[in-house]
Amino acid sequence: ATPTALLVGTGRGAQRGILIKGPEVLESTRTVDTIVLDKTGTVTTGRLAVVGTDGPPEILRYAAAVEAGSEHPIGRAIVAAAGGDLPPVTDFRAVPGRGVRGTVEGHEVLVGRAEFTGGAADANEAGHTVVTVAIDQRVRGALRLADDIRPSSRDAVAALRGLGLRPVLLTGDNLAAARKVGASVGIDEVIAEVLPADKVDTVKRLQDEGRVVAMVGDGVNDAAALAQADLGLAMGAGTDVAIEAADLTLVRDDLTAAADAIRLSRRTLRVIK
Ligand code: ADP
Ligand code: MG
Repeated sequence: ATPTALLVGTGRGAQRGILIKGPEVLESTRTVDTIVLDKTGTVTTGRLAVVGTDGPPEILRYAAAVEAGSEHPIGRAIVAAAGGDLPPVTDFRAVPGRGVRGTVEGHEVLVGRAEFTGGAADANEAGHTVVTVAIDQRVRGALRLADDIRPSSRDAVAALRGLGLRPVLLTGDNLAAARKVGASVGIDEVIAEVLPADKVDTVKRLQDEGRVVAMVGDGVNDAAALAQADLGLAMGAGTDVAIEAADLTLVRDDLTAAADAIRLSRRTLRVIK
């Protein structure tokens, strides 16, 4: 491989909105056989909206007061749904992959997964992202959120399959929500309810099974898994830590660029060899 030919390849990538860390990245595109896709923010837009409240309406205001301290897309959606004028919160704490807690008007408020708030997960046939709300150790209800699938995700999954890659959907969200998104884009291998720290172990486990793994992600939660993957791809609008951990960045936030990147890299290697 001559360095010049490799750099021509990476230059062409840049024109298509694919930023490659270095020419050595191209080599790993040849052997990958599995592509792990983060759900929220990668296959979907990550712009969540509250679509329903189960329980007394005031749970939204309490939840939003606590979520005002959160940077999570779930937190931002809940604050937006509540509108302004939220009571102040003290003792705020965010527990990654589980939820948030805080004290509002003298009440202890927890918002997050059922295991975190002490609630039971309700049947979730609609495939929503569901967070439960507990006030003073009592679960008072739940907020249901939905997220749009990126319009190109389905075609992108088909293109990745066409390149011989097995797609796997990976998320911290509940299994029903993950299956619904998987079914819409054509992915049947779904790994859900994975804690942020365990995403990297999921990649390792697939590698231990002999698979050569590419991973696409956008979040702080994805950074370690992106670094562990044989080929890490970050969404352009993703967090800086994800972009730093990745080998390749998809500037246009479009999963079809992942297939373009792998196709282009393989073609570049063929020209050189
Ligand atoms: P994803 O892998 O989809 O990005 P996360 O790992 O960030 O999801 O979160 C997993 C789950 O933890 C969420 O679906 C939600 O139930 C809960 N959770 C995480 N952060 C929050 C938060 N700020 N407020 C409420 N729930 C949260
Ligand atoms: Mg994400």
